[in-house]
Amino acid sequence: MCGIVAYIGTKPARPLLIEGLKRLEYRGYDSAGLAIMNGGLHCARAVGRVSVLENKVDQLGGFDGSLGIAHTRWATHGSVTEANAHPHRDDKSGIAIVHNGIIENYASVRTLLTEKGHRFTSETDTEVLAMLIGELYDPANGFDLERTVQSALREVTGAYAIAVVCEHEPDTLVVARKGSPLMVGIGSGEYIVASDPSAIVAHTTQAFPLDDYNVVKLSRDGFRTSTVDNLPITPKVTQLELELEEIELGGYEHYMRKEIFEQPNALRNCFRGRLDHKEGKVVLGGLQAYAPQLVRSRRIILTAQGTALHAAMIGEYLLEELAKIPSEVEYASEFRYRNPIIEDGTVVVAVSQSGETADTLAALHEAKDRGALALGVINAVGSTISRETHAGVYLRVGPEIGVASTKAFTGQVAVLTMMTLFLARRRFMSTEASARLMIELDAIPEKMDRVLEQDAFIKSVTEKYIHRENWLFLGRGYNYPTAMEGALKLKEISYIHAEGMPAAEMKHGPIALIDEGMPVVFIANKGPQYDKVMSNIEEVRSRGGHVIAVATEGDQAIKHVAEDVLYVPEVADPLSPLLTVVPLQLMAYHAAVLRGHDVDKPRNLAKSVTVE
Ligand code: GLU
Repeated sequence: MCGIVAYIGTKPARPLLIEGLKRLEYRGYDSAGLAIMNGGLHCARAVGRVSVLENKVDQLGGFDGSLGIAHTRWATHGSVTEANAHPHRDDKSGIAIVHNGIIENYASVRTLLTEKGHRFTSETDTEVLAMLIGELYDPANGFDLERTVQSALREVTGAYAIAVVCEHEPDTLVVARKGSPLMVGIGSGEYIVASDPSAIVAHTTQAFPLDDYNVVKLSRDGFRTSTVDNLPITPKVTQLELELEEIELGGYEHYMRKEIFEQPNALRNCFRGRLDHKEGKVVLGGLQAYAPQLVRSRRIILTAQGTALHAAMIGEYLLEELAKIPSEVEYASEFRYRNPIIEDGTVVVAVSQSGETADTLAALHEAKDRGALALGVINAVGSTISRETHAGVYLRVGPEIGVASTKAFTGQVAVLTMMTLFLARRRFMSTEASARLMIELDAIPEKMDRVLEQDAFIKSVTEKYIHRENWLFLGRGYNYPTAMEGALKLKEISYIHAEGMPAAEMKHGPIALIDEGMPVVFIANKGPQYDKVMSNIEEVRSRGGHVIAVATEGDQAIKHVAEDVLYVPEVADPLSPLLTVVPLQLMAYHAAVLRGHDVDKPRNLAKSVTVE
């Protein structure tokens, strides 16, 4: 969500910042801006795409320095206007700041500053922080930019990643973080700071993440890291593992399409070295040290938001059925604020693609405070959640750029399946049963390839219903969450209203919606509840709904009751969502493209949601 790029070095900052912002565009934003030190501060802001800002900067001219800060905003406080876009400036000390996050006590600080005579020009919380830094700035008394940022941050609550410059210190960049991600890339004689490594890798692979309450002062010949209380700290510099081609389109029209098609290989990577067929055991290095504790756990709470929540719901079914551990799923945002009960032997699993999801992070903190063992199922290596959990498993599906999550979903389901087998085999599952499922798991990528081959057909089916504004997605058992995920995909990129729910639930209300021609997507694979799903299909048909079924290859009967059938290869029921979700992802993709929407930049959405 929203992005920061900042640069200090010897190269022209402008192209570097614009390129960095473009790399962050996928995260979702509504306006952009930058400030470059060139004599004084040159500042430009624009509503809309980074390209609008780029044109504006070119027209204005004068943005020639080698120190600058830049931002893509995802509005939280104040509407989407140029005045609310970042950077924000103070009215006294030549300060400019970009900020991701929310300053929660901004209203009281604003009142205080107004009483001191400051005049605000925006509705944002960020401008309050700019003014506060400007108010406290007093180099004659030791409050240079670094010290001032530290003291200002001690006065505010909430979440922030910030980059700050000051006209009186034209060779200094100060950055800080609490709650929102930020990392410093180290080049030779230059530093590039960004909220996401994808804006850094083109320039350097040496980088370190900021921890909460860290402040970094950067100049061309070095940097200093401290806490907001000015205690020096030593950062852990690591090698960024991201490859540039992983974050480029590579011939695909959209990231979402690229990532849907990457899924077979992504899962091959996810499984590599983790399935020990000989022993019938799953090997998860990240959990090994905690294996005894996990095996004895009494209850597992999976917590997540959005698509990750749907993966977690599948995880719940897997854990209860196969590992026989009582499990439940909860929205992280609800878990965090409802005084949850954590007893001895409770394990909390945070599922998040980015590892930065603010709601999930807050739930994790709460769970840890209450004594839970905290695990992460995360894609982004080194992200905040992965650093703050006791143990965890990375997805290894490569960076996901598309806002609508696809390969991260199947990666999460795959990892949760492996975690389940890791536990099940150490509890009640026989070697044979576990080995059988592992063989099935290993065969998933090849079967996914077969689903993807039907892309053109799936597009033609989608086309038939493209003008319909209301859709239902129904499934049972493991494919109830798949139905939810299918509906979410359709909503988020094609803006079609869709509901996903357990197939049986339809009768308890939503059936009233079904009218002549309403598309109803059933996940009707051959599983234990197939017959029940068939009955639900009949109920829809008799009310005039159009049934689109995702079914198992070879099922001829389904053709008599469904207008359209999308076949997936046969697979063990607990693993079926890994295949049944793929046609739903493709349907959502085609629906959005057919309706003329920008699939990778859906309105109002952001990739990693770093505000609560
Ligand atoms: N709260 C700030 C604003 O609304 C920052 C939003 C963001 O993270 O982009 O301007």
